[in-house]
Amino acid sequence: MKTALITGASRGIGTACAIALAKSGYNIVLNYFNSEEKAHNIAKIIADNYSVEVLAVKADVRDKEQVDTMVQKALEKFEKIDVLVNNAGIALQKLFTDTTADDWNDVICANLNSVYNVTHAVAKNMISNHSGSIVNISSMWGQVGASCEVAYSASKAGVIGFTKALAKELALSNIRVNCIAPGVIMTDMMSSFSEEDLKLIKEDIPLGEFGTGKNVADAVAFLASDKAQYITGQVLSVNGGMVI
Ligand code: NAP
Repeated sequence: MKTALITGASRGIGTACAIALAKSGYNIVLNYFNSEEKAHNIAKIIADNYSVEVLAVKADVRDKEQVDTMVQKALEKFEKIDVLVNNAGIALQKLFTDTTADDWNDVICANLNSVYNVTHAVAKNMISNHSGSIVNISSMWGQVGASCEVAYSASKAGVIGFTKALAKELALSNIRVNCIAPGVIMTDMMSSFSEEDLKLIKEDIPLGEFGTGKNVADAVAFLASDKAQYITGQVLSVNGGMVI
């Protein structure tokens, strides 16, 4: 049986990815940091509804030591990791001139260093198995940049560069590395936007609706699967046509 590790799976897009991959038959390593109760509830829902095993592991993905311990625990239980979804991340809306060095480091650490930390810990196992699929969650703002989100956009553009370079390096080991660039997805991350702002944003979405975690998770499950066996180094936009 195959195993998938999803970072930031206690809420939002990560939870949807854990459910979609459980539905596809993967054992789940469900990473969380602050939302312990939510993570354990999701783990129970998955274990009760799908014939898979679930391991919920607390780790701050910004911290290499905690990540190494999490991956070690996952390998002790499941022996291999077939799919890695680097999803955990944070947002920051601020004028660039108000963005402090601490703000900058927080966003780069949570959104980009985390992707290095977890992928570095998992890649050796995938290389020795000569098999694996890594799906990184970037953002449309990593593709085109957002005003008042320079740190966030830079971190997510970094994830796209990371994906393309690693795809080239790991292809010979039969490991695919792809990236999703979601548009506006209704999760806690969007809770700071006013109803008025959301109405204006919606007018810019050709398909006329905000995305859901499931919309992203379905694309993740596809890229993780053998149906995508000839796809690597790609950025798949899941944005209702907002960026084309
Ligand atoms: P969310 O609802 O705010 O959830 C964020 C998740 O990341 C939570 O599970 C949180 O875990 C986890 N997380 C944050 N910092 C962490 C850390 N240091 N260590 C471990 N886990 C951490 O956000 P979301 O909307 O689902 O976003 C998920 C990903 O999609 C992010 O990378 C985000 O940038 C990207 N994205 C989102 C949108 C959108 O419109 N929502 C659009 C484009 C891209 P805890 O609560 O347990 O701490």
